Amino acid sequence: MDKNNFYITTTLPYVNASPHIGFAMEIIRADVVARYKRYLGYNVFFNTGTDEHGQKLFEASKSENISCQEYVDRNFLSFLNLVQALNISSDTFIRTTEDRHVKAAQEIWKRCETNGYIYKKNYEMRYCVGCESEKQNSELDENGRCQEHPNRELEIREEENYFFSFSKLQEKLLEFYKENPSFVIPDFRFNEIKNFVKKGLQDFSISRLKSKMEWGIPVPEDKEHVMYVWFDALTNYISTLDWPKETDSNFEKFWIQDKNNKREVVQYCGKDNLRYQAATWQAILMAANIPNSTNIIINGFIISGGQKMSKSLGNVISPYDVIKTYKPVTDFPEEVLRFVLTHEVANFEDSDITEDTIKNAYITFLQNGIGNQVSRIMKLSNGYLGNEDIEEVLGKVSEISFAKEYEDFLNSFKLNEAIHFVTNLQKKLDEYIQETAPFKLLKSEIETERENGKKILKNCLKELLVISYHLNFFMPKTSEKIFELVKNNQMPEKPLFGRI
Ligand SMILES: [Zn+2]
Repeated sequence: MDKNNFYITTTLPYVNASPHIGFAMEIIRADVVARYKRYLGYNVFFNTGTDEHGQKLFEASKSENISCQEYVDRNFLSFLNLVQALNISSDTFIRTTEDRHVKAAQEIWKRCETNGYIYKKNYEMRYCVGCESEKQNSELDENGRCQEHPNRELEIREEENYFFSFSKLQEKLLEFYKENPSFVIPDFRFNEIKNFVKKGLQDFSISRLKSKMEWGIPVPEDKEHVMYVWFDALTNYISTLDWPKETDSNFEKFWIQDKNNKREVVQYCGKDNLRYQAATWQAILMAANIPNSTNIIINGFIISGGQKMSKSLGNVISPYDVIKTYKPVTDFPEEVLRFVLTHEVANFEDSDITEDTIKNAYITFLQNGIGNQVSRIMKLSNGYLGNEDIEEVLGKVSEISFAKEYEDFLNSFKLNEAIHFVTNLQKKLDEYIQETAPFKLLKSEIETERENGKKILKNCLKELLVISYHLNFFMPKTSEKIFELVKNNQMPEKPLFGRI
C-alpha cells in the first residue's frame, strides 16, 4: 500500500534582520512534527525559506548603497545557516526571489483575475512601512500610529492599485471554517479569526507602482505595477511544490494528496500571522480554485523579561548566541535550543524566555537531569554488566513503543506536553534508582543481592532506551548517542551536558 502524504510548512521570515528566536521556535516545532510523521511512515514534505520582496528591503538596500538582489543574497544566508545549525530536516528552502516562485505568483494572480477577484481602482491609504501593510483606524494607537511600530510615522499614499476582492469571499470563508472545526489550532485563535471575518472583510490593495517601489514581482501584463509583498509571499506554500504544475508533481502529491485519504496540509505560524494565513491566504486559494490548507497552528510569542524583545531594551536572545554559549559544554549545543524552545515555551500562549530561563532549564533537565543520569547508569553498567546482559536488554528493544499519552500530545501539536512527558520519564527513573539503590546492591557480598542489583540495572538500561526513543524527534543527536552508549555498554567519554 502506498504511504500517506503529509505536508508541513513554516512561514517565511522577512530577511531585513537576523533570525529571531521566534523563527527558531517555529522551525524546531515543525521539525519535531515532520520527524514524527516520517517515523509513522508518512511521505513528508517540509517547507521553509525566506520572504525577499517589499518596501522595507528596498529601503534597507538603498541605505547600504547596494542592489536589492545583493542585499537579499547576503541576508538570506543567516536564515539558511540557522536551518542547518538547528539540524532541521526540511526538504527544501524556498526564496521568494527564485524563478519558480515568481512564475507561480504570476500564475495565481492570473487565475484570481480570470475568476473575477482582482480589479483596479484609485485610492488613498495610511501605510505602515514597518508592517508593509495598510492600517485601518481600529489598528492605530492613541497617537494615530501603528501599534507594532509606534516610532514610525504612517505614510499617506494615493495611487491607482489593483485590489483583491476579499469581501466577496467572506461567506465562503465562514462556511469553510464551519465545515472544518479544527482548522485553526488552538481554539481561541480560531475564534479570533472567525470574529474578524464575521465583522466583514475589506478588499485590499495588492500592487505597488513600480515607479515608487520596484522591488516586487511584476504584475502580469502591466509593466507599471509590481505585486504587494504579501500577495506574492503567501504563494510560496505551493510554489515550493512546483505549482502550477498540477499533475505528476509534488503539488499533486503533497497539496492535493489522495482524495480517498484524509488530506494533511499543515501550516505553522506566529500569532501575528493569524489573519494572513487563516483568512487572506485561504481566500486567495479559493479565488484561484485551489484546495485550502487543512490546519493552521498558531504559536504564541516569545517575550523576554516581561517585554517584547527589542534591540533598544537589550533583551534580544539570538539563536546563534545560545548555540555559541553552550558549545563549550556539549557536543550538541543546538539541541539545548531545541529543548528549551519546546520544554520552556507554552504550546500556543506567549512565553517569557531569558538567558536565565535557558540556563536553569539546562542545569535542571540536561546537566543534572538526562546527562547526569546517563553517566551514572552507564558507569555502573560498564563496571558490572557483561555482553550477555547487554544483549538481553537490546533484545527487548522491539517491545518499546510510544506511550499513548505522548502520541496524543504530538497528534494535537502539544509539543510542550510531549517533551514534559519525556522529562517526567527521566525523573521517574531517577526515583527508581534512589529507591532501589542498585549501586549498593552491586557491591554487596551476598550473591542474591548482587544478582538483584544487576536486574535493576538492566531495567534502568531499558528505561534509558525508552527515554532515548521518546526524545528522538526533539533531540535526535542526544537520543542516538544514548542508544549507542547502551548498545556498546560504554561510559560517555565526557558528560553529554557538562557543567555550565
Ligand atoms: Zn507597523
